[in-house]
Amino acid sequence: MDIVGKETLVRKRERVGFSSEEMETVRGIIARVKEERDQALLALTKQFDRAELSALLVSEAELAQAEREVDPKLLEALRQAAERIRRYHEKQRTQSWISEEADGTILGQRVQPLERVGVYVPGGRAVYPSTVLMNVIPAVVAGVEEVVMVTPPRADGSVPAPTLVAALVAGVNKIVKVGGAQAVAALAYGTESVPKVDKIVGPGNRFVALAKQLVFGEVDIDSIAGPSEIVVIADETADPAFVAADLLSQAEHGDDSSSILITTSADLAREVQAEVERQCGRLERREIARAALAQYGAITVVDHLREAAEVSNRLAPEHLELMVADPWQLLGHIRHAGAIFLGAYSSEPIGDYVAGPNHVLPTAGTARFFSPLGVDHFVKKSSLIYYSKEAFLRDGPKVITLAESEGLGAHAAAIQVRLDREEACADD
Ligand code: NAD
Repeated sequence: MDIVGKETLVRKRERVGFSSEEMETVRGIIARVKEERDQALLALTKQFDRAELSALLVSEAELAQAEREVDPKLLEALRQAAERIRRYHEKQRTQSWISEEADGTILGQRVQPLERVGVYVPGGRAVYPSTVLMNVIPAVVAGVEEVVMVTPPRADGSVPAPTLVAALVAGVNKIVKVGGAQAVAALAYGTESVPKVDKIVGPGNRFVALAKQLVFGEVDIDSIAGPSEIVVIADETADPAFVAADLLSQAEHGDDSSSILITTSADLAREVQAEVERQCGRLERREIARAALAQYGAITVVDHLREAAEVSNRLAPEHLELMVADPWQLLGHIRHAGAIFLGAYSSEPIGDYVAGPNHVLPTAGTARFFSPLGVDHFVKKSSLIYYSKEAFLRDGPKVITLAESEGLGAHAAAIQVRLDREEACADD
């Protein structure tokens, strides 16, 4: 990892968008799924995942087999993680409310869960049971009636047992063996096997992200997940071995992951640099981590912690660790970050798996305006309006004035007809 100036560090974040070729591929896949439905899903699964399926849905027998097959220790860890994630998200529930005014007007807001949600779980190169928990549990806590999970099968047509078991633990209702843009299209438009959903969440590769972007509007989506990122702010009290390990924990995600250290200590900067080298060599995914660190990793030394917070705020990172003597004091200066980890023992992977908060977080600087995935993403709100006659007679003339100023005669007339009726009744 290089030690660079803070401007170079901020520029390291710049990424390329989607290519026109990728756009064309994904548009073609979506059009085909709309037209040929299940038949397209089976053909594309054969083409991209090399799996020849006779059925798209995961059967009860496959689920039972997965339960038998999975390591009991993993099952127990998934159950315990699920429990903590559920408890955290239960605190996020928002209530409907209603308020009555003295003239009898009643106003309110009704909060209701979405009816049906689709969760994309990546297949491809790895197995992600924690992604299942993090995307499904908030939906279940919100009260979503049906959660449909899609995930690409392996070449033999199976889905890894940990993914299936996590789906059972989290409360998924239906699992479909399909991945990529075709899975997103199926959820957005519906096919014989895949019900059309109201919202699609979950991470995936560039084809998945692009497809989600293209079907937005037909359905809702969560934010588009970019490559993983971590910023560590550390002072001279931080343990270089801890800092290096946490930087590497993000770098191993993919060769486009970003790991950045901002420190007030030049000594720590050098120690972390050496420690990263040492620890990286021991990792199974060292090639990925090395590539990520070479392109998107950096260390910068600043004069004081306020300055560190300013640089971090410009990056608005997905994960931010505060490994300083008084992290709670520094927290006051942090404006933008998806998840903030305070202190030496709040290592980022704790948040990935068991702490309880969601690990689906805004990336690529979008923590400036997006929030972690949560219960709020799976509900929608309706406004409630009840006007008493007394309140209507008071406010009606103001509506007529406002509507006429906008040239909306029918709006004014809808009010006037009632005012006229009232006048006629008064005359009788
Ligand atoms: P994936 O499931 O996202 O993608 C596999 C699918 O991509 C295939 O089924 C295929 O349909 C499609 N595809 C592959 N090549 C294609 C091509 N040339 N044209 C059209 N479609 C093609 O699995 P993946 O590729 O391993 O990617 C997983 C991604 O999810 C990674 O980027 C990983 O970092 C990310 N991820 C993120 C999180 C998170 O929480 N942010 C968690 C887990 C995984």
